[in-house]
Amino acid sequence: MNTIDLHIHTTASDGTASPAQVVRMAGELGLSAISVADHDTVSGCGEAMAEGRALGVEVVPGVEFSSRYGRTIHILGYFLNTESPALTRVLDWIVAERDQRNEKMAALMAADGIPVDYAEMKARFGPVIGRPNFGQLLVALGYAESVQDAFDRYIEKGQPYYLPRKMLSIERSVEVIREAGGVPVLAHPFQYRLEEPALRQLIEHCMDHGLLGLECRYSLYDEQQSQYLLSLAREYGLAPTGGSDFHGSNKPHIRLGVGTGSLAVPAEWLEGLRALAASTKQRS
Ligand code: AMP
Ligand code: FE
Ligand code: FE
Ligand code: ZN
Repeated sequence: MNTIDLHIHTTASDGTASPAQVVRMAGELGLSAISVADHDTVSGCGEAMAEGRALGVEVVPGVEFSSRYGRTIHILGYFLNTESPALTRVLDWIVAERDQRNEKMAALMAADGIPVDYAEMKARFGPVIGRPNFGQLLVALGYAESVQDAFDRYIEKGQPYYLPRKMLSIERSVEVIREAGGVPVLAHPFQYRLEEPALRQLIEHCMDHGLLGLECRYSLYDEQQSQYLLSLAREYGLAPTGGSDFHGSNKPHIRLGVGTGSLAVPAEWLEGLRALAASTKQRS
């Protein structure tokens, strides 16, 4: 089966492989297409698409928004116009909010004698810095054994250096992806620990604002879970998508293309997304 991976993070956000590197890895694995879907930025898409053209791997421009809906929900967007002014305005706001939160986290660490300087972090990890980057730095400085250990002891909610950040509302996340000509997709639906009625409510709420897809295959989901999500997608008329959520060595248990080993996202699913993107662009 021809397979793809539509959920990949790079150094543009909190992954450790560059956009060009993930395309090369995808080529070596024989994937026909990938999407670079970094947190709150499309700045890795250009480099990845150029490398993809050189290597014959299709690269779909993508993004992943963390959104407010009581708890944090992730909305993926595919085939967006990365130059869209509406998208750019929203991305600039999010990065400014991240920087404010991150500066305060860095100051808390510095006050305890951990030599963290946020300007240096921006130079090293920019443009979009997330907690996994703090984790990487704490490992490099010898304060943690792994990124996971850094989360557990320092930066997970409830730990001394955790601070929340402002996020987009879920409505706005879905809508701005549509405004940018993209296809909004609910990411990893089981990560929110919702019972079925609440999950359905979430899906229906997002659909009211323009949701078009559901991530049905994901590194952490088994066949039974994927089939359940596929049945929901069919019922609601949502396009199925899938991907690994590769973050390089920031999530070392997840491999590109194959997740924890058995992920297989059929290439046909991309055609469903492509058709939706074409028809939403026509309408707008
Ligand atoms: P931020 O958006 O900067 O607050 O960071 C959130 C990111 O940190 C998520 O997208 C995950 O990739 C990662 N993350 C959150 N919680 C954990 C955890 N307990 N262990 C490892 N990674 C985590
Ligand atoms: Fe992440
Ligand atoms: Fe996510
Ligand atoms: Zn992700």
